[in-house]
Amino acid sequence: MTDVVITSAGNTEIKAIRALATKKGRSQRNAFLSEGLRHVVEAARAGWRIKRLVLAEGHAASPLLDEVRQACLGEGGRVLTVTDELMTRVARRDNAQSVIAVIEQRWAALDQVKAEQRALWLALEEVRDPGNLGSILRTADAFAVKGVILIGNTVDPFSVEAVRASMGAIVNVPLTPVERDAFLTWRLGWTGRMIATHLDGTAGPEGLRGAAPTILVMGNEQSGISDTMAAACDTLVRIPMRPGADSLNLAAATAIMVHALWPGGGAGQ
Ligand code: SAM
Repeated sequence: MTDVVITSAGNTEIKAIRALATKKGRSQRNAFLSEGLRHVVEAARAGWRIKRLVLAEGHAASPLLDEVRQACLGEGGRVLTVTDELMTRVARRDNAQSVIAVIEQRWAALDQVKAEQRALWLALEEVRDPGNLGSILRTADAFAVKGVILIGNTVDPFSVEAVRASMGAIVNVPLTPVERDAFLTWRLGWTGRMIATHLDGTAGPEGLRGAAPTILVMGNEQSGISDTMAAACDTLVRIPMRPGADSLNLAAATAIMVHALWPGGGAGQ
């Protein structure tokens, strides 16, 4: 059967999908957008629920597309075919991908953060830039970080920009939002180590790799790590820079630190 092609931006389903461009729209619908067949396949295979699959008219047929179509329909979702022009409006950019999915959001609870041997967790205090957060998720996925704890008032990880910058990694990294006070209370029961990166740190990143369960804390782009958070950490680490250099970009500093701490790194994995 040939799919009916939706042509109108006034279509109710299309309006609901376009509303996912805003935080409010995403929260109300508990969903986010993922663009590109490869990323949608990865999400489906990782068990994320595909609520809607939007296909550009004339999209290429493929076994991978059949796979995500089945995943979507099998969980009660719907497949919509739209004109190229409408696809541009859904993606809000030219050269839109020919496959866009609406995926149900998923969050992990703080009690899933476990102090297991060789477990490396990342905590981001008030990260504000979606591009930074997406890049960090990509790094976290590459170096087998167990999950990312989002502390305080952070950017929405399911924003279109953050998801794009994560290059699909968002479906592989559990996300735990928590208020700072709640996190600090929970931290009292954390039996592993907690390492903060701080421009006033006295330790360097070398020699930190090990099997001890670890939470690595990174600070806000403007103000860094709060004093209360720094006081709650066992060690403050500074990445050496040339004299006079201000600081590193948050995502760059995270990549250096995660690689330095990655338990698998020393084994040449
Ligand atoms: N003015 C801020 C401050 O005083 O911390 C700069 C914040 S920096 C752009 C954002 C985050 O990146 C910091 O909170 C820290 O986690 C990390 N960072 C950047 N450069 C670093 C360095 N040389 N050593 C350790 N952490 C660094």
